[in-house]
Amino acid sequence: MILGVHMPAGRYAPSPSGDLHVGNLRTALLAWLGARSSGRKFVLRIEDIDAQRSRPQYAAQQLADLGALGLDWDGEVLWQSTRFAAYQAALEKLPHYECYCSRRDIQEAARAPHIQPGRYPGTCRDLSPTQRAARRAELADAGRLPAIRLRATQTHWEITDALAGQHQGPVDDMVLRRGGKEPGWAYNLAVVVDDNYQGVDQVVRGADLLDSAPSQAYLYYLLGLPTPSYIHVPLVLGPTGKRLAKRDGAVTLRQLHAAGMTTAQVLGLLAASLGYDGGGGEAPAVSGVSGVSAVSGISSAQDLLADFSWERLSTEPWVWGIG
Ligand code: GLU
Repeated sequence: MILGVHMPAGRYAPSPSGDLHVGNLRTALLAWLGARSSGRKFVLRIEDIDAQRSRPQYAAQQLADLGALGLDWDGEVLWQSTRFAAYQAALEKLPHYECYCSRRDIQEAARAPHIQPGRYPGTCRDLSPTQRAARRAELADAGRLPAIRLRATQTHWEITDALAGQHQGPVDDMVLRRGGKEPGWAYNLAVVVDDNYQGVDQVVRGADLLDSAPSQAYLYYLLGLPTPSYIHVPLVLGPTGKRLAKRDGAVTLRQLHAAGMTTAQVLGLLAASLGYDGGGGEAPAVSGVSGVSAVSGISSAQDLLADFSWERLSTEPWVWGIG
């Protein structure tokens, strides 16, 4: 249930495993524009469930960069590392079972001809209590915990995406809680529980996550919660045509500043990529982005709000560094 205290919201939910690059910044800007232009709140969440890869200093830098662009947010930032009790409560509402399979077990079982690639083959779904006790004890001897999987009763689920349209994807006995030596909560469960908790009814995020949406929508359904509307936005690609990454040179705000670009110029480029027409400002003198015409006179994301329209957004990926 969306609690009464929550107004509908959009959100941005970075994983604090590195600095945000212009692709991430563009997605954050779109999420903010999408929320604010439709009268929603905008909330932030730090997705630090993976303790191995998360660093608080990255989160701090991410928040600073979003602030530097002029994005503002409502309420406290939610940290997933504080939410484990909520994930446990949701898990208890979902049909689930323990899974003792190693990655290799799954790969081997998945070679069977009737199993679709990438699907959990169901090895642990119907074990007897005695078999379970034996498998659990074996794992415990190795210092490992079982995973917990959803007992799915559907094989596909369909979502509506504002840009991609109807999108159907496979759902299976997805992991809700990872097992092993370092057990932890699964992204799909955490994102559903937290988006609902934060009152999020509009999810704007990168197109790379479109395929996770059917699994998440299925969890909303099973938990009896309303599914948010989805807008998966095109990714930003590097000059080689692959998803923008560190290897592509100056791609974070700090790196771009060091290369001589101002925040206003970065915003101007992002605005141009969103279809804003600024009459073609000066192309910033930064290697890798020469030839791109920036919208001039943008000093904050706030300057983009009045004219924002999803209609202008190209559904093609934006290639960074090629004019
Ligand atoms: N934390 C995820 C990421 O940084 C985003 C999850 C989401 O937006 O649902 O890729």
